[in-house]
Amino acid sequence: MVQAQGYRYVFGPVMSGRLGRSLGLDLLGRRVCSMNCVYCESGPLEQLTLARRAYVPAAELLAELERWEAARQAAGEALPKVVSLGGLGEPTLNSDLPAIIDGVRRLLPGVPVAVLTNASLMTDPQVRQELAKADMLLPSLDSLVPEEFALVNRAHPGLNPKDIADGILAFQEHSRALGKDSRARHTKLFLEILLVAGVNDSERNLELLAAFCNRLQPDRVDVVTLSRPGTEALARAVDPATLARWRERLAGQANLAAQAGERDNTRERAEGTVGSRLAQREKNGHKQNGSVQPEELRARLLASLARRPQTGAQLAEALLADQGAVSTVLAELLGAGRIAVRQQDGQDYYQARTE
Ligand code: SF4
Repeated sequence: MVQAQGYRYVFGPVMSGRLGRSLGLDLLGRRVCSMNCVYCESGPLEQLTLARRAYVPAAELLAELERWEAARQAAGEALPKVVSLGGLGEPTLNSDLPAIIDGVRRLLPGVPVAVLTNASLMTDPQVRQELAKADMLLPSLDSLVPEEFALVNRAHPGLNPKDIADGILAFQEHSRALGKDSRARHTKLFLEILLVAGVNDSERNLELLAAFCNRLQPDRVDVVTLSRPGTEALARAVDPATLARWRERLAGQANLAAQAGERDNTRERAEGTVGSRLAQREKNGHKQNGSVQPEELRARLLASLARRPQTGAQLAEALLADQGAVSTVLAELLGAGRIAVRQQDGQDYYQARTE
């Protein structure tokens, strides 16, 4: 029997609005980032930095992933659709990024690797080269207007939006050139723009980002907004009409369908999508995780709830677990004071308590 221990860096799988059933890897382990966005839901920032270091050493993270994979195999559970590298801060700050991508490919062969990044370090050719190892890159760029960028992303003083945009363009050019060689892998690029009402939803920003998308020609543009208040009270969602207008405009420029996605560190919207995905899962014949040991389920629930508040149904769906087993473990964790629950949109959302 595989011994269940806690997980510090591996979390989920969670249902990601943009990627589907995604196993998350936290490359920071604490709140270290090159930005301090007003909408960030990861909690108060500990360190604002551009310094690359092995914040979580590859060997430590991969040993945990290996343990997770052994438990998955023992339970006969389906593989996640994607492994996403992100976490409590900016993942490209971890200098072990290439070793981590290589390790994920070795441990979970055939599962695509995605990197969620704020793109701040893409100004560095070395970082771009490392990111080209991924199957999917999801950079965010919220504003090309310097004053708005300062307000929404509150980035390290060494950063400016033009340099970041140039870094993303350089990556795409290189990736496209590689893609012409049929033996090389072309990294798909999904750009994300998060709109905060009255901050970066200006016409000027829309025009600048439209011109940028026209040059970049990403594989997809996700224009999103907050699904609940961000870290700062001033961070408010834009209205649906504004969101629709931006999506239409940017899709036209990039000659693609701008998507209704959701930032992966934000809560899934209570739109009834869980029910439809559950039905789809049954149609696909996905096996439920009924044979996972309760200790393993407990460890996975805690790791997942430390990154994102979720309902019992969302947890059961993402972890391929039996709803009754999830409810039992949630009740036990609530009783032990390890998690908290609160109501939103008429549903109970669970979240890990910080120690
Ligand atoms: S939203 Fe992302 S980039 Fe912004 S502070 Fe949070 S972790 Fe950093």
